[in-house]
Amino acid sequence: MQDFITRLPKAELHLHIEGSLEPELMFALAERNGVALPYASIEAVREAYQFDDLQSFLVLYYQGMSVLRTAEDFFDLAMDYFRRASAEGVVHVELHFDPQAHLARGIELGVVIEGLARACRLASRELDLSSALIMAFLRDRPADEAMQVLERAAPYWEMLDAIGLDSAEHGHPPQKFVEVFERARALGIARVAHAGEEGPAAYIAQALDLLDVCRIDHGVRCLEDPALVERLRALRMPLTVCPLSNVKLKVVERIDDHPLPQLLEAGLLLTINSDDPAYFGGGMRDNFLACQRAFGWSEATLLGLARNAIEVAFMDPARRSELLVRLESMA
Ligand SMILES: [Zn+2]
Repeated sequence: MQDFITRLPKAELHLHIEGSLEPELMFALAERNGVALPYASIEAVREAYQFDDLQSFLVLYYQGMSVLRTAEDFFDLAMDYFRRASAEGVVHVELHFDPQAHLARGIELGVVIEGLARACRLASRELDLSSALIMAFLRDRPADEAMQVLERAAPYWEMLDAIGLDSAEHGHPPQKFVEVFERARALGIARVAHAGEEGPAAYIAQALDLLDVCRIDHGVRCLEDPALVERLRALRMPLTVCPLSNVKLKVVERIDDHPLPQLLEAGLLLTINSDDPAYFGGGMRDNFLACQRAFGWSEATLLGLARNAIEVAFMDPARRSELLVRLESMA
């Protein structure tokens, strides 16, 4: 089964590229850029990765990205992830990036996007790994600031596959970002949003009603509202579920308690993703494996989940057909 999961062509739709920063690269970049880290060793960083909830994770997450300064750093960050992901059988990655976290440190948008885009091009050539860019807004920052970032991104609008909404969910409902998402819609940029991870089911409904999103990141708390579940099912609205992340951030206690079986049973369009793999205990293969072991999933179930991700990914039709053929050859 481990071999089957590795060979399964996996598309990852919910990944924060800054959350793929492994301690080794964090140290290497800190040295290259002369950044002082509050850790004595790579082991000390790993120990610090024991957090209790979303907020304590976010503190570490923002601290870690202080080593990212130049376009080359962002290129190295993404290539490091693409190589690891490709070795696990990942064929397509949609990366969220957080421009506000970098702008706040004086790192221009162009530095971030050009570094990431160069890695995306190289990954396509060298690893046969396709990708998409999702520019995410930090929901715990003011909506005005998000709007300014969207406008500042004008030279790069063509390169964005979507905008997203992430970071601390409590007290920052989708409603806060109606105007920003309205502007993106007018520009013809697709929209996704985190909702119903630690926030209530009502935030998922708001993301649908007010932000006109084409998928929901996480969304696991939809189960608290049966009418919403039915609506998501009827819409075939994709949910990008991140099982190991949910365990690490205590959305659920153990993987065995994860609501994935109920979500599947409800007929929802689910995908499996790693979220912040460096911090949450594993990449795509580990997420699939953990679920397979916990829920006893068959090869058919695993194929179905991998197929969902390819079907709803931001990719051109030729690439989609190619990946679906590759997937069906395993059935
Ligand atoms: Zn996320």
